[in-house]
Amino acid sequence: MKVVLKDLLKRFANAERAAVNKINLVIEKGELAVLLGPSGCGKTTTLRMIAGLEQPDSGRITIAERDITDLAPKDRRLAMVFQNFSMYPTMNVYENIAFPLHAIKMKRKEIDRTVREVARLVNIDHLLERSLRQVSGGEAQRVALARAMVRRPEVFLMDEPLSNLDAKLRVQLRTEIKRLHQDTGATFIFVTHDQEEAMTLGDKIIVMNNGDIQQVGTPHEVFFGPRNAFVANFVGTPSMNMLSGRIVADEGGYRLRLPGFELSLPARFADGLGKMKSDGVIWGIRPEAIKLVSAPGENTVSGQVELVEALGSRDLIFARAAEQLFGVIVDAQESVPVGAPCHLHFAGEQMHLFDAASERSLLNDKPPQSPHRDGGRLCKDGDIHRIATNSPP
Ligand code: ATP
Repeated sequence: MKVVLKDLLKRFANAERAAVNKINLVIEKGELAVLLGPSGCGKTTTLRMIAGLEQPDSGRITIAERDITDLAPKDRRLAMVFQNFSMYPTMNVYENIAFPLHAIKMKRKEIDRTVREVARLVNIDHLLERSLRQVSGGEAQRVALARAMVRRPEVFLMDEPLSNLDAKLRVQLRTEIKRLHQDTGATFIFVTHDQEEAMTLGDKIIVMNNGDIQQVGTPHEVFFGPRNAFVANFVGTPSMNMLSGRIVADEGGYRLRLPGFELSLPARFADGLGKMKSDGVIWGIRPEAIKLVSAPGENTVSGQVELVEALGSRDLIFARAAEQLFGVIVDAQESVPVGAPCHLHFAGEQMHLFDAASERSLLNDKPPQSPHRDGGRLCKDGDIHRIATNSPP
């Protein structure tokens, strides 16, 4: 069922700013939409308003064209799975799954058929007689999923349902949720702060910050065509390299003056640059987009490798050039040892530019064509901000 949020606003008592700031969002029938953003950005509050667990101050919510804003949670025909799923420890797995069906007075035979069918779907049909104390965390989360599914809701709300699981199990359950989504054809709205989880799961990603929606798009769109510096910074691991710079006009074209070096800019930025009120920009390039080349040349800076982190088939190199530190992803077989000289080439078609004042992309939201996949915070001139886990020691 299609879910539409219209001017949805929620401000908690005594809060400085709105937790959810008049957001508008359309989630199509059967879509797997992921609300992604840092802690406190308003993801859970948005989901709780859809579930009916939190009342908006203003705005409307419709599901399949039906205004549900004032309906009680039980009348909304949706199911919610939480991070800390609450179940009944004294009941076994079967009884936990069957519980919502007893509540709607379904016949015993029908309950049995439904419980077994749903348990099979989430691979716990062999655990039905076990007590909840005898199942692992991953299995318990599957029980929670099964319990949410038994009433065959057409909208599933999931609030970080995998965050209490270890990394391997998370990846496994992620795949199962994706399969569940395909099998049921229901609309899924999934909340996470983990951008890798969002990218792998979502048909549509809604990036939020400070109660506002920053961008809505496919994983490809938010990754390759971040609409603003926040999205560029937040989405992608390792983080995007970002630097503050100034634009200078040059023989009918533009050059970008960055701390310690200059780059020529491709024509695709001309429209955006022409509309700017000042010359300040934020330049960004993902670690995968920087190439190590054998000799200096146009749009190349020379430096030295300071640190190498092995990522498996690829290495993350931290190279110091023009007094800046760049993160560069290379094939492990083509890696360069610490201390070695290197030349970093920045391909024009892989560069991102944001207006320094508005932090909006100068590309009119057109994603560049790029084969790579991959995310940095803005600050004073010459600084590169990174997501903490990618920072060199
Ligand atoms: P997290 O990933 O940490 O769960 P989130 O993006 O889901 O974060 P919300 O839980 O929606 O964020 O919170 C949004 C803002 O509203 C935060 O500033 C939070 O402190 C505030 N907030 C949330 N619930 C309440 C509440 N019941 N009372 C007061 N403030 C609240």
